Amino acid sequence: MDNTSTYTISKFQAARQCLCPRCRTGKMFTGSLLGLKGQKMLKYCPHCGLKFEMEPGFFYVSMFVSYALNVAQFIAVCIATYVLSGHSESPWLYLIACSLTAVVLAGFNFRYSRVIQLYWLTPNLGFKEKYYGDQYKKDIKIEA
Ligand SMILES: [Zn+2]
Repeated sequence: MDNTSTYTISKFQAARQCLCPRCRTGKMFTGSLLGLKGQKMLKYCPHCGLKFEMEPGFFYVSMFVSYALNVAQFIAVCIATYVLSGHSESPWLYLIACSLTAVVLAGFNFRYSRVIQLYWLTPNLGFKEKYYGDQYKKDIKIEA
């Protein structure tokens, strides 16, 4: 492959890796997905400088996305609990299973609710190939 190749990472791959939706190169979050220090989102993309929270309250929408993710996970966990427990009818078993799921997947839901909002629910924000990869960073260094 030569340097003029226009290969870019796919939208789904970039979303899965929590990369900036505009450049698909800079990371959106610090720390690890299951880290115990809490989840923290960067204010700006470290690569292209996109401001992630475009206006105050921008991420209220991700609250609804997070709710939808939680409901889907609860349904999956309840079905799995029902099958694995041999058709148990104890409500406490389901309550504990759902509570544990909510705690364990809190970081996942926090990240991916925002990623889904930025990638699929923000109409004006799309991938700009000129920001992708190392080329853009080189340009910044020359200007600075
Ligand atoms: Zn970026």
